Amino acid sequence: MKTVYFDNNATTKVAEEVAEEIQPYFCRLYGNPSSMHTFGGQISRKITHARSQVAALLGCEPDEIIFTSCGTESNNTAIKGTLAAAPDKRKIITSRVEHPAVLAVCRQLENQGYTVIELPVDKKGRLDLNLLEKELDDQTALVTIMYANNETGTIFPIEKITEIVTGRGITFHTDAVQVAGKIPLNLAKSNIDLLSLSGHKLHAPKGVGALYARKGTRLSPFMLGGHQEAGRRAGTENVPGIIGLGKACELAAKNIEQQNARVKHLRDKLENAILKKCPDSRLNGDKENRLPNTTNISFEYIEGEAILLMLDKFGICASSGSACTSGSLEPSHVLRAMGVPFTAAHGSIRFSLSRYNTEEEIDYAIEKIPPVIEKLRKLSPFVAK
Ligand code: PLP
Repeated sequence: MKTVYFDNNATTKVAEEVAEEIQPYFCRLYGNPSSMHTFGGQISRKITHARSQVAALLGCEPDEIIFTSCGTESNNTAIKGTLAAAPDKRKIITSRVEHPAVLAVCRQLENQGYTVIELPVDKKGRLDLNLLEKELDDQTALVTIMYANNETGTIFPIEKITEIVTGRGITFHTDAVQVAGKIPLNLAKSNIDLLSLSGHKLHAPKGVGALYARKGTRLSPFMLGGHQEAGRRAGTENVPGIIGLGKACELAAKNIEQQNARVKHLRDKLENAILKKCPDSRLNGDKENRLPNTTNISFEYIEGEAILLMLDKFGICASSGSACTSGSLEPSHVLRAMGVPFTAAHGSIRFSLSRYNTEEEIDYAIEKIPPVIEKLRKLSPFVAK
């Protein structure tokens, strides 16, 4: 059975070119980049090259890139590193729809005595920037707001947000894990202080990420115990991961606009067909300001998990907005924050595409999905017979 992969916000295929590039660094070129000998030294040069490839995608200087192990570590470093560098300040502002890699950190800090403000969103998942402005004060150390939401694809107006935050001595961090490689970034022209990205969301291997830290941003290291990354992140480097991330950034930067247009066309075709052919289905999120690859659709009166299981039988991979927590099915915190009704939040499915998806796969999904929904509706106790 073929696999039709529409779960690219969860993880992506490693690009063939990336797999090829990193191959020599397992068994042949396995030196430690910190070693004095030539065998290790040559690896250090490859890391320097990868750093400039990542910087080129982000439009920043190579020495503003810190390699980490994943997006989660980048977020933890940004948040905890900023607070450690500003011990006199006790307030963090974030949003209710952040990924747990931000929310869980902020909630732990709240338990430790910090004031944490989680800004609400409207029914399209948008922030009220007036509320943000009202919350900023002398106690605020950090504003951390994601660039785009992983569940709905909604893009926040990051540049407008930085205009509000900048100039007050507050650090601004953005979780751009779902953005890097999907939409163009030019950090040299922005006021973003810290930005997180993750390799496995942009066709690099799992286990590598990066944190952009603008020159002059106050940040204490999160990982201690070595001089790597100019003392900003200790630990022997994930050499193949870093080289792979560099290559993946180089590939993503190539024709980013063209790739976007193609992926958006496929996403829109899938979304329009589903919304048209499946009664009682609705789009979640901001239709206009959205990542080109993501659509989140609620199918009223049926369970997301049941839909996923039936789609799986056809080889179609997607994900649901529910998380199975301690035996009960909790609807996603993102959809809940947007006020999506209970019946719709339970039946929400995220389809997230990549540049590797084809028109043929979209046609296949359009053929298979509507009958699955119809069948489940017939079985649903919530649908009037
Ligand atoms: N932030 C966002 C928005 C994400 O979507 C994810 C992963 O899904 C992460 C952070 C965590 O990234 P990683 O899996 O690299 O730790």
